[in-house]
Amino acid sequence: MSIPPRRRDPGRQANGPGVSVDLVRPFGEGKDVALRAVVVGGGIGGIAAAVALTRAGVGVRVYEQAQQLAEVGAGVSLAPNGLRMLERLGVGAEIERLGARYVSAQLRFRDGRAVRHEPDQFTRPGQNVGIHRADLLALLAGQLPPGIVRTGHRCTGFSQDAGRATAVFADGATATADVVIGADGIHSVLQGFVVPPAKPVFSGVVAYRGLVPRLHGYPADAMRMWVGQGQHFLVFPVRAGQLLNYVGFVPSDTSVRESWSAPGDPVALAAHFAGWDPVIGQVIAAISGPGGSGFQWGMYDRAPLPRWSSGRLTLLGDAAHPMLPHLGQGVNQALEDAVTLATLLGASTSPAGVPRALAAYEGLRRDRTARVQQGSRRQGAGWDSSGSQLIDRRWIYEYDAWAEAIALL
Ligand code: FAD
Repeated sequence: MSIPPRRRDPGRQANGPGVSVDLVRPFGEGKDVALRAVVVGGGIGGIAAAVALTRAGVGVRVYEQAQQLAEVGAGVSLAPNGLRMLERLGVGAEIERLGARYVSAQLRFRDGRAVRHEPDQFTRPGQNVGIHRADLLALLAGQLPPGIVRTGHRCTGFSQDAGRATAVFADGATATADVVIGADGIHSVLQGFVVPPAKPVFSGVVAYRGLVPRLHGYPADAMRMWVGQGQHFLVFPVRAGQLLNYVGFVPSDTSVRESWSAPGDPVALAAHFAGWDPVIGQVIAAISGPGGSGFQWGMYDRAPLPRWSSGRLTLLGDAAHPMLPHLGQGVNQALEDAVTLATLLGASTSPAGVPRALAAYEGLRRDRTARVQQGSRRQGAGWDSSGSQLIDRRWIYEYDAWAEAIALL
């Protein structure tokens, strides 16, 4: 069962800089919408939230700081818990078409020998789908009616009173609604209006990541992870197997700011994995070839937050629970957040119910995501000690966030 599309809010044309938008009192459109939401951040989490909210009958606008919606040139692994949410958003078939389901999932030591493990301590064959991040974002954004996303809006402030919440942007524009949702990533500005501002925590690990064209020496339908002492290497296909996503995790005492502007040096990456399975060498060699790409990315997270919401403001995705990628759950948890929040807000019959809906959202999401954040740290250490202490993932994969939210109504 999916979240059924309800009333559609057709939206208005884009506003120029410095123009204020009051979503609480719209100009005649969407009169049948009981609630209105402003989402700050047009990443996968924010756009998924907008899709879920629209389908749940909530009027929504997304404000993104970049001049256009864009994702980085890398893949993301969708797990059963996230895929279930995408089904609920009505895009399950498109995900299968655009992504690549791994028929085989192989955990290896550095020399290529198989690591023995219980089936649910890694990924079961056929369970996960690799997808290019840009394909996932475009697919979700394509579900939104025109006029919902406002780019070129960098949120710098927030205010609220008992009846409404307002996001403030760098150019002086404001957007007022019944609820503001901070989906503005690990460096979230809106997080600072919920808890005292704090810096993300550097993990001491840097990821070299990017895409290479499919390789003769690598099966097009397999995910493979090689584990050793202090570092590990992951490969999985995206875009129906035409491209391979790779990530090499290596220790670093220099904190690289989380940014795609830092180019990944394939020579340095090759030196880190010298003497490992030659297949890794083939992947690294392809980075500099046609269609290859490489970036360096510092790995940061935060300790679980003591709360996510304040009155009519709440957080979602990395703004709420940035986690290390060692369980492959950041996007998957953001998708769970999106469907949970939309289900609860969609059931609110009036703006007065928003704080209660946000409390219910936080009640369902905070402990679970804290466990995944902490598990991701532990799993990183496990991969980097040759695959010891692997986490059984059934509690992550078997969860249905929509069913949990519905059970509260
Ligand atoms: P973001 O993607 O950070 O989006 C935030 C958006 O908000 C951006 O568009 C930004 O421009 C915008 N923004 C920021 N500040 C403002 C502002 N002030 N005003 C307006 N807009 C603003 N997850 C998985 O599920 N599976 C994986 O396999 C996986 N692999 C990963 C591998 C690596 C190496 C890394 C680093 C992460 C991985 N993740 C994975 C995690 C995943 O990438 C993140 O959890 C996810 O992208 C978070 O999405 P988000 O929308 O919450 O935040």
